[in-house]
Amino acid sequence: MKFIFEIHNAKLEVNKILILDRDGVVIKDTGYPHKIKELKFEINNMKKIINFMRKNDFNLCGFATNQSGVGRGYFSENQFWNCHNHIIEMCRKNGLEIDFTAVNFFKVESYYRKPHPGMLNQIKYFYSVNSKNILFIGDKSSDEKAAKNATINYKFINQI
Ligand SMILES: [Mg+2]
Repeated sequence: MKFIFEIHNAKLEVNKILILDRDGVVIKDTGYPHKIKELKFEINNMKKIINFMRKNDFNLCGFATNQSGVGRGYFSENQFWNCHNHIIEMCRKNGLEIDFTAVNFFKVESYYRKPHPGMLNQIKYFYSVNSKNILFIGDKSSDEKAAKNATINYKFINQI
């Protein structure tokens, strides 16, 4: 099982980074969502995120998502990317550009699985942006704990 950090858009100047959880933030968390046909998009949340980014001068945005469904054998890594790329495309169509994805497939505790800070630290170190200019938006207490463990800012999606 593994951790993957993928850049979708290379940007030269990164000042402020918004990191999003995926399930429960831009799509409904229906329990290991992985089929395009069954996705339920949170368009309202996407709009709120876009406005929030504009208002607060964030110029980079990406996902940090636990996908233990792969580790549990519920779906394959290929199925994950198929579905995930569709989600990125839907975000883009609604005006939300996704610049990177940090994802892990572990089903057991790992440094790279939230609430541990591995994915968030990877993003922080890769872009070398000061922690105070990084905000993570999620929907669960494990997201909040991961942000705390990575010493970055945190908000619940219903707080923006
Ligand atoms: Mg979530």
